[in-house]
Amino acid sequence: MKRKENYSSEESPLSKEELEMLKKSVDSSEDRSKLPPHDNSDSANAIRFAKKNPILVVSAIIIAIAIIAVTVLGIVLAVKKSANKPCTDDYTIYLGTESYTVEYEKANINDVLFIDMKKIAKFAGLITSGSRDRIKFTSDDDNYLKFENNSEFAVINGAKVDMSVQAIVNENECLVPFSFAQKTVAQGLKIRLDSTTNTIKITRQLYDDTKEPATILFTNDGFAIIQAITQLKEGDIGLDSYNIDITPYLQYIAPANAKDYLILANKQNALGKNYVPSNLVSLQSELGIPSKNASLQLNKNAAYALQAMVKAMVADGVAGAYIAEDGAKKPTDSLFVTSAYRDYDYQEKIFDDYVSKEMAKNDITKEEAIAKVSTYSAQAGKSDHQTGLCIDFITDSMGGDLDNRFEDTAAFEWLKKNAHLYGFILRYPVNPNGDYDDPHPITQYSYESWHYRFVGREAAVEIYRSNMTLEEYLELN
Ligand SMILES: [Zn+2]
Repeated sequence: MKRKENYSSEESPLSKEELEMLKKSVDSSEDRSKLPPHDNSDSANAIRFAKKNPILVVSAIIIAIAIIAVTVLGIVLAVKKSANKPCTDDYTIYLGTESYTVEYEKANINDVLFIDMKKIAKFAGLITSGSRDRIKFTSDDDNYLKFENNSEFAVINGAKVDMSVQAIVNENECLVPFSFAQKTVAQGLKIRLDSTTNTIKITRQLYDDTKEPATILFTNDGFAIIQAITQLKEGDIGLDSYNIDITPYLQYIAPANAKDYLILANKQNALGKNYVPSNLVSLQSELGIPSKNASLQLNKNAAYALQAMVKAMVADGVAGAYIAEDGAKKPTDSLFVTSAYRDYDYQEKIFDDYVSKEMAKNDITKEEAIAKVSTYSAQAGKSDHQTGLCIDFITDSMGGDLDNRFEDTAAFEWLKKNAHLYGFILRYPVNPNGDYDDPHPITQYSYESWHYRFVGREAAVEIYRSNMTLEEYLELN
């Protein structure tokens, strides 16, 4: 065997007996080829040394094992320590070449890293608007982002987006989760975090590939919000979103002069005695819309949008069959418009009647009665009905009383899902505390499941998707 020959041919440093022993051990291996190769002369040296100094070798092995063990333990502890204790330095945030710092504790709230969107928006050239606890950032191409204090929802182009963590919005800043800002905010805007040094770098870079070679440039143009969510934009509601032929109605549902339909009448904003809406038409005689009173009128544009909506409700079997067309389903309940445009004098009469009733019923003063009636009826000049853009619905199943039993009707369920597609909103939503009788903190009226206001489709879609009131929408637009 070659190996044996090697041992003998070399001038071996081993004694004759050592060599014999080694030969025996090699010969006893049944299949040497299965063992890893090793340096024969070194092995031999080691064995010789071991034979001569057994205690020393054992000690060396123990020391080596101990050193390895201590080293491994050290590494494990170091890794563990670094994993448990991240960098707690203050954050340095670069916006291009400018930078600012934020204390570690201020940036991390309940273990979530926050960043100020106000600063990013300014850097990105977005227009900032809004109120103290609501803020909107708009880009040149009309993409926008909105945040509300204590809300975990952001609104991006009318769509509600869950951030999982509440934003903090106040006069000075708009703190949003860093991860949300990073993945949502912009194209042409890079937001990077180095968590070992707590450095955040925000840069605006675009490759100009019209040049050879392509150059990086900083630009104020071309900024876009990444989740531009085109599929959620108002303009993307397709013809197939409707169960009737909507084409002839589009000019009314989504009017070109959309702002004309955003008139606000509320306790703070009176229309005045002389305000009369333009283009009033008769709902029943001119448009065939089932009405409790033949004299009911509405602004022409809102009336045609309403006609489309009632047609769609009839087609779905949730309204009366008055204007049913071929193929309409059998209605489950008959729907009527019970109130539409009300002029100043009429509203004054309604309000005064309510006041007299409350005084008689509860034995209270006129002032007390006015305060009570104001939670459910408007004083003249302050009624949404004077805009000529809203209606109250009632169905047969409600037994003649206009109240929140409307919520139990199929018509209500339908309106809840579809009214916005026709440009209508639920004008007086439930107080967020869930109490139907408690006035809403923003509209200052208690819940009216029957009252729908035309605002045009664009605003209606946004109000619907963002769960806003008309007041809040107007504040932001
Ligand atoms: Zn009403």
